[in-house]
Amino acid sequence: AKNGGRHTYCVFQPGMGDEVRQRRALEKDMNTALSAGEFELFFQPRMCLASARIVSYEALIRWNHPERGLVSPAEFIPVAEASGQIVPIGKYVLAEALRIASSTITTASISINVSPVQFRDRDFVDDVRRAIETSGVPAGRIELEITENTLIEDDARALAVLTRLKEIGVNIALDDFGVGYSSLSYLSRFPFDCIKIDRSFVSEAQRNYGSLAIIETVVRLGKALKMRVVAEGVEDTEKLCLLAQRGCHEAQGYLIGMPAPTSKLVRSIPEEVSE
Ligand code: C2E
Ligand code: CA
Ligand code: CA
Ligand code: CA
Repeated sequence: AKNGGRHTYCVFQPGMGDEVRQRRALEKDMNTALSAGEFELFFQPRMCLASARIVSYEALIRWNHPERGLVSPAEFIPVAEASGQIVPIGKYVLAEALRIASSTITTASISINVSPVQFRDRDFVDDVRRAIETSGVPAGRIELEITENTLIEDDARALAVLTRLKEIGVNIALDDFGVGYSSLSYLSRFPFDCIKIDRSFVSEAQRNYGSLAIIETVVRLGKALKMRVVAEGVEDTEKLCLLAQRGCHEAQGYLIGMPAPTSKLVRSIPEEVSE
């Protein structure tokens, strides 16, 4: 079942061939996935620890593949980034997330993940502006989540793009904070509204004193820099208590709510959490 492409030599590299073929098959199927309506957004709530209320939802893309079933974004986003398909997919995510923010999720904020490849696209800022105009959603209700990979290659240009986005009025979050390299300097050089602490620190917080120390430090940094601090991957009430005690602003994770389609949107916080 080779498709006769110019890279069929990969078939002869043991072990690698399967993976390459798999990626190429996904890439090919992705060409029609958008127009076939196979993508869908799930939404996961984010809770403010001071008020015990849901203050925002993160849009997380899902691919309902006709043969494979649900394909994880962890699997297909890297393929879409390598092929450039992330640009039209990212436009879909923007438009769809804002459509839902004007129809179904009408008061909470909406967070949208932006790939470094999408961020570097020449039309990105215009795409954001147009999506806001079309949807009528106030820019202040929108947050774009970027990772430090977005800032690494050309930081002068990244700063210029972020500045234009801030002028439009959208909020910017630094996602997966702590897992990359020179994160600390990014915090003072770029106009972030929010820092999302990577879930690896949160999951280790009770077992690993270093992880807890990092959480405490990021919370303090966030306060000093006037940025909201969100803990990702909160799965149990002990972690939630620990984060609340440390003054973390918000929490996100399976404990508070699973990512869900809009038909099953998590509208309130479970009782054992809000008590
Ligand atoms: P992310 O932006 O760090 O999103 C958080 C991921 O953690 C999501 O995985 C979410 O389902 C998962 N998660 C949330 N709470 C918990 C928890 O308590 N425990 C554990 N173990 N996991 C939790 P998901 O939806 O599979 O997305 C994976 C990644 O794919 C995202 O990581 C993001 O980098 C990317 N992604 C998802 N949707 C989009 C999108 O629309 N555009 C782009 N460019 N990337 C996206
Ligand atoms: Ca994210
Ligand atoms: Ca994250
Ligand atoms: Ca991540």
